Amino acid sequence: MLTKPLDIVTRDTMQACGATAALDVAGGMAVISPVTGTAVASLATHSAGDAATAIDLAASAFRTWRMVPAPRRGELVRLYAEELRKSKEDLGRMVSIEAGKSPSEGLGEVQEMIDICDFAVGLSRQLYGLTIATERPGHRMMETWHPLGVVGIITAFNFPCAPWCWNAALALVCGDPVLWKPSEKTPLTALACQAVLERAIARFGSDAPEGLSQVLVGGPELGEALTDSSRVALISATGSTRMGRIVGPRVAARFGKCILELGGNNAGIVCPSADMDMALRAIAFGAMGTAGQRCTTMRRLFVHESVYDQIVPALKKAYASVTVGNPLETSALVGPLIDASAYESMQAALAEAAGLGGTVHGGGREEVGADSAFYVRPALVEMPEQAGPVLRETFAPILYVMKYGDFDEVLEQHNAVGGGLSSSIFTTDMREMEHFLSARGSDCGIANVNIGTSGAEIGGAFGGEKETGGGRESGSDAWRAYMRRATNTINYSTELPLAQGVTFDI
Ligand code: NAD
Repeated sequence: MLTKPLDIVTRDTMQACGATAALDVAGGMAVISPVTGTAVASLATHSAGDAATAIDLAASAFRTWRMVPAPRRGELVRLYAEELRKSKEDLGRMVSIEAGKSPSEGLGEVQEMIDICDFAVGLSRQLYGLTIATERPGHRMMETWHPLGVVGIITAFNFPCAPWCWNAALALVCGDPVLWKPSEKTPLTALACQAVLERAIARFGSDAPEGLSQVLVGGPELGEALTDSSRVALISATGSTRMGRIVGPRVAARFGKCILELGGNNAGIVCPSADMDMALRAIAFGAMGTAGQRCTTMRRLFVHESVYDQIVPALKKAYASVTVGNPLETSALVGPLIDASAYESMQAALAEAAGLGGTVHGGGREEVGADSAFYVRPALVEMPEQAGPVLRETFAPILYVMKYGDFDEVLEQHNAVGGGLSSSIFTTDMREMEHFLSARGSDCGIANVNIGTSGAEIGGAFGGEKETGGGRESGSDAWRAYMRRATNTINYSTELPLAQGVTFDI
């Protein structure tokens, strides 16, 4: 049980992180905690003019930061990881307060920030370019990676801090200042993360320029200010496909660079040979965890007809019994939806599914505390076919279950939606597994075997295809998006041979 009201807990936690923003600005932007549905703060917002000033400052910071050696830039990120470890409990609590996640998931999100920082520190000594064979004698050809410029980071409510850090940790070691426009639903976590970063900057010393990392508090108009500024070299935008459809073309129109991390409509396939107990647990976490509010949440499930009666009744039981409740005061596995509009979208999708012949199990509102908080029992919907709401992302805990008979057909069905983020197969049949992972298998950016669709770890590139936007972040060679590549050819001979045997004698 919390011993103090939630707004006081919020204030104490922000203070512990070193965040100094006034939390009670008259007429400011209300920050509502989904845990209670009540305001925990009222913040001053930034204007378009403030955004322009922030971009100026970041552009000026770039001129200094790009000349700081990359391993030294890595030192700042190393210090940040140390500060994050010290503030992990507080930041995790802020995630729970603002996004309604369980304490374990809130802490997990902060751990993900620590992990990407550790990854980025190593990377700061590995920003390699190639040396390339040249056809010209006495020449050497190579590529060099240089800092790109200001990186604008737009983030969604459901992961209030980790995706920022996936971008910021890499951008900072790559030599780029960062400007963060967090979701208007979760600005406090952003201010807390920035305050913790400022502690690291203070320890780092004077070669970190002013304006290296800034936060812009407000709505989509601030995201648009970043999107449209030719001085923001890269926009990394996490959010709905609707948002990506606006941001992508606007950045492209000014020939800027973009990383889009958008919505998913992720599916699992349960094959006859699957370890059913393992599949059940993986599906339960993938579909109900974070109250269905992860981009990687499992939303569709194809079950082979021979095992349908084995797994679906067990899933129904899990859905009926999973604990739903206040994440700060109980050990419930499922917390609240973010707001009333998420609840309404969920109910509309369930009604549409029922109209298409779906059998809905669960999905109703659970009375947890005040009327202003929206807690629901996750919904399992048995569908006769993949149609209507099954084809799109509804950001709530709904799992549509369908039967399949033929493996080739289920692969077609699997890929027949707009989202291309994450996917899973549950099988112990090597041929099925390899087909799923092959060129004719899952068309998603993430394809898993015998684990759920959610819960990615740092190290692998994160992102998806089609309406998920095509961006890749955090692991593998995602760092290249934050740098520009120059190809250099050096002639150390006394001749001037031209490529392709071209002659030009003057
Ligand atoms: P949203 O699209 O409503 O908002 C996301 C961010 O974009 C917010 O900061 C918002 O202010 C900003 N924004 C909105 N319109 C904009 C515009 N026209 N120009 C610039 N910025 C704009 O998304 P949400 O409801 O906060 O988050 C849920 C969505 O995000 C889901 O679709 C989910 O799948 C997706 N998501 C994707 C990933 C991923 O990595 N692929 C991760 C988390 C969430």
